[in-house]
Amino acid sequence: MSKTDFTELKKFLSTTRKIAIVAHKSPDGDAIGSSLGLYHYLMYKGHSVQVIMPNDYPTFLKWMPGNDKIVLHEGNEQNAEALINDAEVLFCLDFNTPSRAFGLEEVLRKSDNLKVMIDHHPQPDGFVDYMLSDTSSCSTAQLIHRFAQMMGDKIPNKESGACLYCGIMTDSGNFRFPSVTSETHRIVADLLDLGVKHDEVYNSVHNTSSEHRLRLLGYCLDDKLEVHSKYGTAFISLSLDEKKRFRFEKGDMEGTVNYPLSIEGINFSAIFIEAEGLIKCSFRSIGDFDVNLFARAHFDGGGHRNAAGGRSDLSLEETKK
Ligand code: 5GP
Ligand code: MN
Repeated sequence: MSKTDFTELKKFLSTTRKIAIVAHKSPDGDAIGSSLGLYHYLMYKGHSVQVIMPNDYPTFLKWMPGNDKIVLHEGNEQNAEALINDAEVLFCLDFNTPSRAFGLEEVLRKSDNLKVMIDHHPQPDGFVDYMLSDTSSCSTAQLIHRFAQMMGDKIPNKESGACLYCGIMTDSGNFRFPSVTSETHRIVADLLDLGVKHDEVYNSVHNTSSEHRLRLLGYCLDDKLEVHSKYGTAFISLSLDEKKRFRFEKGDMEGTVNYPLSIEGINFSAIFIEAEGLIKCSFRSIGDFDVNLFARAHFDGGGHRNAAGGRSDLSLEETKK
């Protein structure tokens, strides 16, 4: 059973420790933002801290302070695994089951360090010693602010603040999802007071696309959108050939899945992206239709009620069917 009382952890962290932070596969804004936000807080406290990601992530997340210190497991397996095994404390952020850490799954299961999960996904797996899990939180980044409070501290600087702001902003759909609460805005107010420039964070994430990416979005909406009004459903698919045509880079389809929901009466949207050997699926919904359950039942995936992902081993056509 994972502990939810952090009193002993607070004592343990009152002396300098070797700490590692990991987040989920194909990290998003919340995974990188919460990890680097926590990194700056723990460094400020005098700990020795290393952030490790299972694999690479889009360029629009690489502006965050501390990004240059992140070690990728994919391509640096031995080094990354040694860093994890060497840590006394391992923070697992923005995921709640070891398989979401992809290539790091075995290392996570076998390493005997003290493990702390901070996460907001449903149905957490109790693989950790300490767990701060709140499915009502719009982001893991928001929970890092709460974690600092539980440790008797505040977020110390604007470096940490900018990373947390990015995590909150991206996971809350720029503050428009129902999971955004007055607590979210109070936390964001604290971050702005530290000197975080919200317009700069927004521009760094959303206004740094390549021309190809914008044209790809146009193509997806014009040529590839399939609307099934009778079912309140619309989806977009993209093949390997089409990716090549638009010089696809990691992250270029990020956010595209949200557009079909802007059609009145559409409350379920999906995208199917062909990759080497699998189809990557993303699902979004408005209201009661639970895409976490849908992704778990049909696509070996999971996520939240209104945002989830998964995979398929069938062809693109069969997957759509
Ligand atoms: P996205 O569609 O942006 O890749 O993911 C949306 C949400 O679903 C995120 O919260 C992400 O963590 C979760 N998610 C995406 N893919 C998977 C998957 O393969 N398995 C599980 N369990 N969750 C996923
Ligand atoms: Mn998240």
